[in-house]
Amino acid sequence: MEPFLSQVARHYYSNTQIGKYVFVFPNRRSMSFFRHYLSLAVKDITLNVGAVANGGRARPLIVPKMYTFGDFMYACSGASASDRVTLLLRLFDCYRKVGGPGNADSLDEFIFWGDVILKDFNDVDNYMVDPKAVFTNVTEFRQLEDTSYSYMTDDQLEAVKAFVHHFKEGGQMKFDPSGEGIKSSFLQIWEILYPLYNEFRRSLMDEGLFYSGMINRDLAERLSEESVTDILSTAFPGASKFVFVGLNDIDKCGKTVLTKMHKAGVAEFCWDYSSDMIKDAGNKSTFFMKDNLTEFKPSFDIDPAGVTVPRINVVAVPSGIGQVKYLPKIFSEISQDISKVGDLVGGKDCAVVLPDENLLMPLLNTIPEGIKDINVTMGVPLSSSAIYSLMKDVAELQFHLRKGKEGMMFYHRPVWNILKSPVMTAVIKFEKENGDDAIEGLLERLNRQKRYYIPYSWFQGSTLLETVFKPVITDIALSDASQIKAFEEYLLGVISYLAPRLPDNLSTEKEYARKYWGCIMRLRENTLPVKPSTFAVLLERVLSTESVAFEGEPLKGLQIMGPLETRALDFNNLIILSCNEGVFPSRGSSPSFIPPSLRVGFGMPTYEYDDAVAAYNFYRMIQRPSNVWLLYDTRTEKMLPGEESRFIKQLSYHFKVNMKRMVAEEGLNTAVAEDFVQKPSDIAQRMKDIKLSATSMETYLSCPAKFYYTSVEKLKPKDEVAETLDNAMLGVVYHGTMQALYLGGIAMNPGFSLDKDNIDEHVGDGSLVPLKEITLKYIGEWLKRKDEIRLKVRSLIEEQLNIPEVSGRDLVIEDIIVKYVLKTLAIDKAELEARGLDSFKVLGLEKECHWKFGEWRFKGFVDRVDSFGGVMRVVDYKTGKVTENDCKIDDSNAREVAEKLFGEDVRERPKIAFQLFLYDMFMEKDPLSAGKELYNSIYSTGDMFTNHPVTVKISQQFVSIVRDEKLPAILKEMSDPDVPYRRTSIEDQCKFCDFKMICGRNPKKDN
Ligand code: SF4
Repeated sequence: MEPFLSQVARHYYSNTQIGKYVFVFPNRRSMSFFRHYLSLAVKDITLNVGAVANGGRARPLIVPKMYTFGDFMYACSGASASDRVTLLLRLFDCYRKVGGPGNADSLDEFIFWGDVILKDFNDVDNYMVDPKAVFTNVTEFRQLEDTSYSYMTDDQLEAVKAFVHHFKEGGQMKFDPSGEGIKSSFLQIWEILYPLYNEFRRSLMDEGLFYSGMINRDLAERLSEESVTDILSTAFPGASKFVFVGLNDIDKCGKTVLTKMHKAGVAEFCWDYSSDMIKDAGNKSTFFMKDNLTEFKPSFDIDPAGVTVPRINVVAVPSGIGQVKYLPKIFSEISQDISKVGDLVGGKDCAVVLPDENLLMPLLNTIPEGIKDINVTMGVPLSSSAIYSLMKDVAELQFHLRKGKEGMMFYHRPVWNILKSPVMTAVIKFEKENGDDAIEGLLERLNRQKRYYIPYSWFQGSTLLETVFKPVITDIALSDASQIKAFEEYLLGVISYLAPRLPDNLSTEKEYARKYWGCIMRLRENTLPVKPSTFAVLLERVLSTESVAFEGEPLKGLQIMGPLETRALDFNNLIILSCNEGVFPSRGSSPSFIPPSLRVGFGMPTYEYDDAVAAYNFYRMIQRPSNVWLLYDTRTEKMLPGEESRFIKQLSYHFKVNMKRMVAEEGLNTAVAEDFVQKPSDIAQRMKDIKLSATSMETYLSCPAKFYYTSVEKLKPKDEVAETLDNAMLGVVYHGTMQALYLGGIAMNPGFSLDKDNIDEHVGDGSLVPLKEITLKYIGEWLKRKDEIRLKVRSLIEEQLNIPEVSGRDLVIEDIIVKYVLKTLAIDKAELEARGLDSFKVLGLEKECHWKFGEWRFKGFVDRVDSFGGVMRVVDYKTGKVTENDCKIDDSNAREVAEKLFGEDVRERPKIAFQLFLYDMFMEKDPLSAGKELYNSIYSTGDMFTNHPVTVKISQQFVSIVRDEKLPAILKEMSDPDVPYRRTSIEDQCKFCDFKMICGRNPKKDN
């Protein structure tokens, strides 16, 4: 189908006066395409459908002037709108002047609803609503019959009556307007909106400032006194005609201007409205257009032969990013030669429409290499840049400053985020190469000590780190202009230091840095007596409007754009992502103080307008392509139900379009891992050097590939600073407290380190004499010293988390650990009493044990070895649940347990069977066990409050099966270079595996 703009270009090219015409479009991109189609006409090139311009003869052309509709209105009026922050600050001044309710001195409070008021004033003006009527004073409102309201239409009066009824009945207020409650608070603001509107406009006019609605309204009102042709000839000297191309939703000011121009015979209109679906009376897409067509007849017949319904494919994808990953498949359908996708000729032209901006960066990172030319019409927002993320963390750094013993300290999270940022990494590299010798040592210390709060002094010595890690905010709750000035200076200082040091491959980030710098400079023009958090909100608002154009040759290559940018444009291949209900069309409408009933009564936009705009854009963009792909995310996420867009449902049920439906497979285009990892050729030797443990053997049995990463390659997950105690840390604290209790003496002092060297040192100098016997009396005393146990637990938590004090959720965990410790003491006491003993012997705590099995060596730490009379116990404290069934290994089930233990990909592998076997092997030759019966005792925190610890004697038959049969076989397999490491086929295990990314076995639904 011939593109709409091409038809317009051909039509007007034949007009010799075109050089004197002014063309007005809905957006800039359509101007570029129109220029392109005009140039095709000039060159007498056959357009897409084979039509030949000007009967086959080329004619030179003076390119006409082109504007967007917004710019056209500004050009007519000779004014332009001020930026949002200036308007907001001015509005705040006026708000205070008219005595707005609430804390009128606090810009911090005002800022959140100031924007809402600005938008409402804009709507009031764009729709030429009488402000006095719409902001009716409820308190003074009398009777409908009162002639003083005759300036309102009947509809308006009805709307006002319904609105006032919420507050008044029979002329009497239903509640105290100066009281509390939502209605009172609303009314307090409502009653000042009219004076505020007047004051705001007056104050802006005094200084020659404007907001866009104000400009448009003033222009429209001028037309009742001035001739439109006079205004136009001043704004556009020499222009003879104005052609409005591809518009749809036009507000009342715009309509007023167009009507005057139409009557004066200087305006022509080209409406993009051809398909049966877009014209369907039941379709919201007709909402604006039916009036447009009535009021402004089209200048010529677009698509005289009609348009056909494209081939539509609907693809359900079980992830957001998955939609992006599906694109290469579509590109290969468009052209087998992927470098041709996006070519404007030959039907390969292609646009990807992104209703969800968040998919832009993943999309840019996924475009196949073969596609060289890309045009991102929507611009890449500053908020998606690395500079933006970095500066957000730099601001965060200031919001979480803390004063401690070591001076000002930074919260670790923003510090690490900053250091990990690609921008910072590049600048650190630059600094090192250019003589910053201190930086390496400072970073090494940060890495080594992993502090929760990091002292400011740790960054001294490196100019870069001193510039970034500098405490600036002195009081986060203070609304103070000088503090904000210092904050601005600091942010400018950081950005000015970083940007010039960025390497060429981050040149786009330099551009973002320049924009960021400009935004702060704009804010700096104002005095802002606000809290730092309010400043951050303001900065965010300024930054949110900034983007960097990501354009090559504008008419070449794959086009990526938001739904609004598609207006007036046509592509043969159209791919729309995020066709989800709630995304396209989006859900809800923007906040407003003007209730919907009043908006309807006064002809102001409501949520219906937004729906109608989205419907028009959707049905317009699918009018002329040959192929359309609609992709949607099937997951239910946040507030979105994973439901396809109503547009897809309408196509299916209302328009009965025959669509091809597909479900994309999960894990699209992720690196597909082989089922095996090859062993290193020297594995036999390396295995001899590895000290195996119960954990490493259990790892091998559950996933040999994971054993390879952890034990052979010795890879470790990145050691990050923990925010709160995890299960492993909880185990360490519980183990540590029990160890300290049974070591006795100073070991229970908070702050006494249970590090082996520290214990040896104190044992060596005699300050710690480890207990040999634990008596009933000793246990009984500690059972009463709960607070001292708590202090020990607390100090161990602080040590684990590297924090100065335990708070929040960790206090709850502290309480839980104290309960575990007291229960463990109570269990030991009960054990003694049951056996009629007064004490038990401690034979070892955190005892290091070894076992040599042929050429293989095993090592482990036993939590506790004790002796109750002639019984020796190997005690294991387990955080989690271990039941009798897990430990029950007797002669009757020995073979079955061994088979399950060593089987491949067994889902219910016996939990602790190998550990029990290994502990027996550790103790077998230990002199301590001579003449004693050996038992394993499992103190499981998941079970200790309901059951006595499981104490078992392991089956000798099981020991023989493992030692003589299963273990030699598995160790042989582990050392055989010809047997590769198998990856588990139980993918559930991969979800929580630390190596899932390097393994290539990305668990599904991980996006
Ligand atoms: S990701 Fe899965 S297959 Fe890979 S090492 Fe981890 S558990 Fe094994």
